[in-house]
Amino acid sequence: MLRDSRNRIIAVAAVVAVAVWLSLAFSSQQLLEITFFDVGDGLCVLIYTPSGKSMVMDCGTQGRRGDFSVGQRIVAPYIQSLGLDSIDVAVLSHPHADHMNGFPGLLKSKPARLVLECGADYASAEHEEFVKAVKACKAKRRIVRRGQVLDMGDGVRAEILNPSPKIRYSDLNDNSIVMRVVYKKVMVMLTADAGEFAEKDMLDSGVNVKAQVLQVGHHGSKTATSPRWLAEVEPSVAVISCAKNSRYKFPAKKITERLDAYKVHTYVTGRCGAVTVSTDGSGFKVRTLRKPT
Ligand SMILES: [Zn+2]
Repeated sequence: MLRDSRNRIIAVAAVVAVAVWLSLAFSSQQLLEITFFDVGDGLCVLIYTPSGKSMVMDCGTQGRRGDFSVGQRIVAPYIQSLGLDSIDVAVLSHPHADHMNGFPGLLKSKPARLVLECGADYASAEHEEFVKAVKACKAKRRIVRRGQVLDMGDGVRAEILNPSPKIRYSDLNDNSIVMRVVYKKVMVMLTADAGEFAEKDMLDSGVNVKAQVLQVGHHGSKTATSPRWLAEVEPSVAVISCAKNSRYKFPAKKITERLDAYKVHTYVTGRCGAVTVSTDGSGFKVRTLRKPT
């Protein structure tokens, strides 16, 4: 009996030692990682905090109606590789299919606890599937507005810059949730499909839009990324989420030339695969799944 309990104590001590070592090994890195998946003409971004909190902003691709495969095929396995069984926060920037048709497949295996939405109405079969999937995972649903801040722990916060509390745009894209993710000195701007009207409104409101990394609005279309927006955000790196042979001819030449003129180093997911920005809060690194083609 005595030997058994001593062995048990040794075993417990060994488990505790490994757990402490693992937590020290991981906490010593203290990295925030933001991954832009290669989902073709769509958007899916994972924000993964130093202590393992997860937020997925959008999950969709251009595709035939009912194509849920990007969430299942691409995003869920990556989240599984991080050892996560669920998602803390899912964000639907706006209810267009290319931002949500992968969510049902993803949420089936990785349910979200909280879902943030822009509150714009848009009836579609894809939206019905999205709502069904959110209900199935019993997530809380919240509509967000400029001025709200989501504290993700470790000093990581997501500032909501759009939609405005006052304006409702006729173009759904301009109602997109825009988030600035801040970790100490490093800021990443996630604009989803917000275009020039939303950009102007955010700038006129006086919110801080500075960010070293910019997810270029609306897949690099010429409806977004105005010169004033680019000058104020002042990014050094940009990520454009679109297919290599984009059906919509994304990104627009005018926008890539503008990014070049502002000396912004630009990554296109369809050309280099998933793009991951990792930061300790003072500097940041960018890695891509493959060499740009
Ligand atoms: Zn889109």
